[in-house]
Parts: sequence; C-alpha cells; structure tokens
Amino acid sequence: MVLRARDIRVEYDGERPTRAVRGVSFELRRGEVLGIAGESGCGKSTLAYAVTRMLKPPARMTGGSLTFRTREGEEIDLLSLDEEGLRSFRWTRLSMVFQSAMNALNPVTTIGRQFGDIFRAHRPEMEKEERVRRTRDLLEMVGIDAERINGYPHELSGGMRQRVVIAMALALEPEVVIMDEPTTALDVVVQREILDEVERLREELGFSVIFITHDLGLLLEISDRLAVMYAGEIIEYAPAEELATQAAHPYTQGLLRSFPDLTGVRRELRGIPGSPPDLRTEPPGCAFADRCEQAFDVCRSIAPRLLELDRREPGRPAGRWTAACHLNDPDHRPAAGAPTTEG
Ligand code: SF4
Ligand code: MG
Repeated sequence: MVLRARDIRVEYDGERPTRAVRGVSFELRRGEVLGIAGESGCGKSTLAYAVTRMLKPPARMTGGSLTFRTREGEEIDLLSLDEEGLRSFRWTRLSMVFQSAMNALNPVTTIGRQFGDIFRAHRPEMEKEERVRRTRDLLEMVGIDAERINGYPHELSGGMRQRVVIAMALALEPEVVIMDEPTTALDVVVQREILDEVERLREELGFSVIFITHDLGLLLEISDRLAVMYAGEIIEYAPAEELATQAAHPYTQGLLRSFPDLTGVRRELRGIPGSPPDLRTEPPGCAFADRCEQAFDVCRSIAPRLLELDRREPGRPAGRWTAACHLNDPDHRPAAGAPTTEG
C-alpha cells in the first residue's frame, strides 16, 4: 500500500451544508492504477482535492484519515502536515494533473523556466546544467521535442501542453500521481496517445495512479481496480477486468449499459433516467433508490453498507470486491422468488 484513505468526509458549508463526500475509504497499492468513476457531481474531484489537501473554503474535510507510506517505508499522516510539510510532500511524493492543467501553464514564461521553478523549489542543490538536462529528458519522455524547452505554452497544441503538464508532474519522481479528467478536453486520438504514454511511463518509473473520470469505458481499459462513486460514496469497488461483465451494483450496471461495448458490438446506448439526490437533504435509505429499477421496500429506509460480495472465491484476498446494495446483503435481500420491486 502506498496511500490509505479511511472514512473521508467533505462538506461544503452553506445555509444547508452539502455532504459531498460521505465516508470514502480506499487503499492504493504500489504500482497500480486505481480508477474512480461516476457521473459529474458525485464527489470524485472533491475527493481528489481532499486527498491532496487542496480543498478550499467553502469545502472542508469533516472526518477521516489519510496515510501515505513512502518507498522508504515511513508512514506519513497527511492530515498532520503543515503548509511547509505539504509543500515538500507535493511534487516529490504525490503530484496532480487536472483537466484544466494545460491552461494553468504560465503563458509568458518559457517551458524550460517553468520546469526550472519546480527544480529550484524542491531540489535547490541542482545545478543549472542539470536542470536543463533533466527538463530536456522529461520533454522527450512524453514525446515532445527537447528544443521546445525555449518555447512558450501558446506555441503548443492542447495535447502537447497536457503532455508538458504530465512531464512536470513526473519531474521529481513522485510515488503517486492523481489525474482528474486529464484528457477529457482533448480529442479521442490525442487522448489515446497520452494514455498510452502514461501507461508506458508508469511501467518504466513505477509510480501509482489514481485516475478519475466520468468515462467508465476508458477506466475499464486502463485501471487495475475500479471504485464507482455515487452521491459522495463508493458504491462498488472491484477488479476492473471483471467489473465490465459482472457488476454487482445496479448503478454500475446502468453506467455499463450507457456506453458502447469495448469489443465493438454496439449496445443500446441508454443513460440512467433521473438525477442524483440533493446532498443538502439526504434521504434515508439508498441514495440510488429513486433511479433504481430493482429497488424494494428496505431500500427506502435503510442505507446499504459496503459489503464483501458472497461471490468471493477461495484463494482471493478479502475486500477485493465490495458493493453497497441490499441485493448483495443476506440480511436484507428479498427471498428468491419474492417480488423485488415495490408494488
Ligand atoms: Fe437499488 Fe436497493 Fe440496491 Fe439501492 S440498495 S441499488 S435501491 S436494489
Ligand atoms: Mg470533476
């Protein structure tokens, strides 16, 4: 494990506070890609900001713990880091690439100078010559001509700028890179090239990735494990490969039905009717009940717990597949043969 999040809670202050992240736990293993999926507004980005300690008011963390285990084996409690501690932690241990990142490059400063700023802040002992060499290497590593070091961001296409941002995120060899919709603004071909590049770099450099997107199809392809979020909670957590065909949660099943089959067989594209609940007024019971075709009476009164599925096979680690749905809970699911929908 490299990063462990336990029971993370985030609220947006307001007249009626919005509970945007409601008790999320996960463990990122060393070298893996953990995908986080869900419709927009489900709390994915808020979770990313919480994990990187970048939440800004009115958002604030109201509970949970975050533990980082470094490659040297030291455990760091991220919530206890002060500003100085966070500053040295970011980039060196954990870095981030956001959707709008390519627009965050400084337009009036050369690419080389922007890399230089990172090195000067975190590796003050580095000589100028080495900074330049390292920058050129990084640019080439993400498929950009090293001569661009003296160029400006506006001379590059969106895809190339996003590559620059990824190279910056990798500049200090972090152990974890969090990517929130890193390619969503780009066309499909460029997106594909960049993802292949990230995958190659990950194999070469061995960092772990948390990859956040609403694009479940893409996540199924690139993730080792996948967490599906709904209304601020993880509702299913599973090995990505098997999730595509064996999703246990009705919401995941609905998401899977709403994009074309990866094998090229076009399935009926069918969105999930309805919209997520208002998190300022939390309904009792399952947050998905209003949109769930399989809802039954208990769903409206008792919130389902994230439980290990009973399809667990011998020899496989516990906790590898969990879902929060009463249909998977022996205490609540209707008896076989009984009607499963409300009358
Ligand atoms: Fe549907 Fe009930 Fe499962 Fe919620 S708990 S997803 S409403 S069946
Ligand atoms: Mg988002």
